[in-house]
Amino acid sequence: MDVPSTMRALVYTAPHRVELRDVPTPHTRPEQALIRVECAGICGSDLAGFEGRSTRRQPPLILGHEVVGRVVSAPVGASVSPGERVVANPLQTCGVCPACRHGHDNICSNWRLLGMDDVQGAFADYVAVDAANLTSVPDMMQPTAALMVEPLANSVHVLGLAEAGRFQSLAIIGGGTQGVLALALARLLGHRDIAVVESHPDRRTIAAELGASLVINPAETDPVTEIRAWSDGGVDVAIEAVGIGITRSAAVASVRKGGTVIMLGLHDQSSELDFAGMVRNEIALKGSFAYTSADFSRALRLLVTQEIDPTPYVSVMPLDDGQEAFRNALHPTGRTLKIALSP
Ligand SMILES: [Zn+2]
Ligand SMILES: [Zn+2]
Repeated sequence: MDVPSTMRALVYTAPHRVELRDVPTPHTRPEQALIRVECAGICGSDLAGFEGRSTRRQPPLILGHEVVGRVVSAPVGASVSPGERVVANPLQTCGVCPACRHGHDNICSNWRLLGMDDVQGAFADYVAVDAANLTSVPDMMQPTAALMVEPLANSVHVLGLAEAGRFQSLAIIGGGTQGVLALALARLLGHRDIAVVESHPDRRTIAAELGASLVINPAETDPVTEIRAWSDGGVDVAIEAVGIGITRSAAVASVRKGGTVIMLGLHDQSSELDFAGMVRNEIALKGSFAYTSADFSRALRLLVTQEIDPTPYVSVMPLDDGQEAFRNALHPTGRTLKIALSP
């Protein structure tokens, strides 16, 4: 396949500004494949970059890491070949640090991500990806399912840390993409007592549709009081999927004595928490970061088999409308959990 020397790319040029530009088509290193992008999702972390809140995303940079596309060129001996449709695991890990060697490649000391630092991302016609990070996907798989593998991999990881199957009641604080995917996965794993706290009305509707047993509008009632009453003194596990002080505190206050809080949200660097209360009530706090390669494979299977089907909640916009798409993603309206861009 002939690859043009330049391509269109949505370049993050300044806070709150992305511009469609002609840029050189990426040169691939020997271990890399070149992918013709079919579709790429806007992640919360891309939005943090867009808002100028991500130190590792400095302009000019092509954002985007949730990507499905087709292989244009691949190294000899790679597990994927030209013409194959693939999803990329955008997390590049070193394989040699202690975390990687112990199977915790999600917390690799040297992790890099597409669309971060000097690694150009997927909001473009083409993207270069380490061939080892590519997995082929069926041609019949919806692009709006394929691009959700990476977001769902995060939920697979969270529910692994929460020891899904071994608790009864769950509260999810924040019903955005991550909160809703965690809800869908927890339901699939057999959990039924799930409360979701979400301020956005359309997202509360989605949470109810996906089977949350209690959906709380924090503007109307105090979520902690309601969760504690509903769960007879506190839930076994709370997942915090926002990352600000008030929701982190709500997650801690929602669990029972001896309960577990999983922190997923990354909005604020630091927050105050009732540590004395956590000590007295023996509350366990775990951070959940990204996903291992095993989590990624599991997420892919769940989407290929349509056991999880997020496609009704994904909307695709042309790359040309990137600025509008980022604005919409920042201020979501309607029943959309994910906005994706298609070149
Ligand atoms: Zn993401
Ligand atoms: Zn490593």
